[in-house]
Amino acid sequence: MGFAPPRGTADLLPPASEAMRRLYEEAHALAVLYGYRYVETPAFEATEVFAHTSGESSDVVRKEMYTFEDKSHRSLTLRPEGTAPVVRAVVTSGASLPFKGYYVEAMWRYGRPQKGRLREFRQLGVEVLGTELPGADVETIVLGAEYLRRAGLRDVRLEVNSIGDASCRPAYRETLLAYLERNRGRLHDEHKERYADNPLRVLDCRDDACRDVAREAPRIRDHLCNGCREHFDGVLRGLDEAGLAWERVDTLVRGLDYYVRTAYEYVSPVLPEGQASLGGGGRYDGLAELLGLPATPGVGFALGLDRILLAMKEEGGGAAEAVCGVFVVTMGAEARRSGGELVRELRAAGVPAQMAFDERSLKGQLRTADRAGAGFVAILGEREVADGTVTLRRLADGVEETVPRGDVASRMTRPDA
Ligand code: AMP
Repeated sequence: MGFAPPRGTADLLPPASEAMRRLYEEAHALAVLYGYRYVETPAFEATEVFAHTSGESSDVVRKEMYTFEDKSHRSLTLRPEGTAPVVRAVVTSGASLPFKGYYVEAMWRYGRPQKGRLREFRQLGVEVLGTELPGADVETIVLGAEYLRRAGLRDVRLEVNSIGDASCRPAYRETLLAYLERNRGRLHDEHKERYADNPLRVLDCRDDACRDVAREAPRIRDHLCNGCREHFDGVLRGLDEAGLAWERVDTLVRGLDYYVRTAYEYVSPVLPEGQASLGGGGRYDGLAELLGLPATPGVGFALGLDRILLAMKEEGGGAAEAVCGVFVVTMGAEARRSGGELVRELRAAGVPAQMAFDERSLKGQLRTADRAGAGFVAILGEREVADGTVTLRRLADGVEETVPRGDVASRMTRPDA
């Protein structure tokens, strides 16, 4: 009996918490490798930060925001996405541009919880602010693909599209609207009523009926202005040069209103249909102005870390737990004292090490070592203390050897030596 975590949230405990931590570590390592700087923004923002940017007709703003009033009657919202806060923070800080930033943070959305869809989830996001050049789009796309590869995912499809900009999208929108009007009867209920709010959104509706309509719809690629076409050609060329396979998907539009030009998504076939996207991003050149800030072009992505873990599990790989460290097992008072010293020596040498808090049987200590996820036990009995040795046992296969006590740390940092 007791409290369960709120619906749509989950406790992260070992080993899942450790798999998540490895994703965080890989995120930091890779982002830094590409020259991105770490950014943190508050967990909640003035509601307008999201309402003015994501689009009044977006699902996030219409249905999914955790909005509350604080005691001073300010309307605040738990961060449902990271791009608008990062743009707000970086542009108002006056940081020199272009600025390449990344974040690894929790997000909150009040959706219907299901496999791969939570109310609290974690994202790795990267943003390049202050340049329109297609090379920035390419770099973010390559970084995201590399991250997924390093996470151990083997089966990821990269989908790309250009959704035009303020000079060509309005005319396309009208063409699409006219087409949707003619086909309104075929649309799924929600879109029958709401297709006019954001006609592009109908293109990536998951409903079968809407999909049929979307398949035959006028394609944005036939309506791009020269600027958008050249930009997109530059992106595709860059992806080819980087050796990244891509697929152009005409119905890919992304869920938030602020995207222009490049839109992309990483899709996993092992995830459930509606939750197959591991992450995605695109260009958002007008977003800063929506926040009342100086125009600042930008491009970036957000990857869902919870979904990446789910895909890793579904692919049947990547979940191997790296057992590590030494659990020092002792017999007798003298050995226990000497064991405490050994633990300190190992830690000082950077080798994870621990021992039981109390004196318990050999069997009890070995059980504790196993549960703690140790890779090795170092056994110290009377004989070992007298000889200045340690019996090292690898828990995976029980292989044992007796080594001079002073060699334990180097054995652990080079276990196969
Ligand atoms: P978005 O910010 O909507 O573009 O989402 C980017 C990525 O974040 C998605 O592809 C998912 O991997 C992840 N994501 C978005 N919403 C959720 C959610 N409710 N639960 C878990 N992951 C999510």
